[in-house]
Amino acid sequence: MADITILENVPLAGYSTFRCGGPARFFAEPSTGDEVARLFRLAGENNWDVFVLGNGSNCLISDKGFDGLVIRIAKNMSELTSEELSDGKVLIRAGAGLPFARFGNYCTELSLTGAEFACGIPGSCGGAVFMNAGAYGGEAKDFITRVSFWDGKDVRTKDADECAFGYRTSLFEKLNSEGKTAVILGFEAVLSKGSKEEITALVDDLRARRTASQPLDVPSAGSTFKRPEGFFAAKLIEEAGLKGFALDDSGAQVSPKHAGFVVNNGGRAKASDVMRLIDYVVQKVYENSGVKLEKEVRLVGDFGGR
Ligand SMILES: Cc1cc2nc3c(=O)[nH]c(=O)nc-3n(C[C@H](O)[C@H](O)[C@H](O)COP(=O)(O)OP(=O)(O)OC[C@H]3O[C@@H](n4cnc5c(N)ncnc54)[C@H](O)[C@@H]3O)c2cc1C
Repeated sequence: MADITILENVPLAGYSTFRCGGPARFFAEPSTGDEVARLFRLAGENNWDVFVLGNGSNCLISDKGFDGLVIRIAKNMSELTSEELSDGKVLIRAGAGLPFARFGNYCTELSLTGAEFACGIPGSCGGAVFMNAGAYGGEAKDFITRVSFWDGKDVRTKDADECAFGYRTSLFEKLNSEGKTAVILGFEAVLSKGSKEEITALVDDLRARRTASQPLDVPSAGSTFKRPEGFFAAKLIEEAGLKGFALDDSGAQVSPKHAGFVVNNGGRAKASDVMRLIDYVVQKVYENSGVKLEKEVRLVGDFGGR
């Protein structure tokens, strides 16, 4: 393992867009699927728990950090290639560590339509597959045709129709929730050509709408809650009188700009402060509307038995 650096006691707050959370006992950033496999082997031999982190834009990391090995795939493994197909469409191959926004921008550069929404999502391509990231009516599943992943033994591929994509979920998320290993290594996508002018105009429009409506200058993990069927989380939170609400001066606050975002003002709140506020919002919205909000944000590490 001489060529994979494993660091110890690495603060994770800087690897999470929420800007809070404690350290990883061990931390590595593999460059290949083979290195991922070797890291898992090492973790198995040493009985370490493993957490696969992407760009940390949908995670709340415990103040105690993660007592095991964090494998971060958000810097390396970022291949990006294109190939024109016989029907005029274009096949893109993207590594799991590539920023999803970079994938979106690349599609724009190639005049490919369908991935405009990706330009504003701050996660990795691996995280976008895992979460089936989406915005403004588009989702990763709209163009992904195949996903490669490491299942704990082998590198495998799944066609899109086997990936169980749903609202902010995928086969890989389901395997993860069952305690199984599924490390996304990359995806293939097929997109059609369109008008560069129209694509660029749409990207600009979506960016402007995001900037106008979301607190992009304050640490957060985007939408804290999933959209409950038939409702909008932000509207329910607003109706419960919680837009801009804070329990204390910890820095954790329901954004005054977008009630669907819990933010960490100045990056000074602890994960426990954010968690307390999330719990409060869930409780108050339930009391007010009878709707039980579900977290979209993923909890990493120890949050007292959750
Ligand atoms: C300002 C802001 C705006 C946002 N807007 C949107 C939006 O419009 N739409 C949207 O869907 N999301 C949005 N998000 C949330 C987030 O960007 C997406 O969920 C994104 O897909 C998460 O990717 P990530 O790489 O950051 O994943 P992480 O947060 O690092 O991880 C999320 C989950 O994916 C798993 N994971 C990550 N990479 C891999 C991998 N390679 N293999 C296996 N598992 C992996 C992790 O284990 C974790 O469970 C926003 C976030 C912010 C901060």
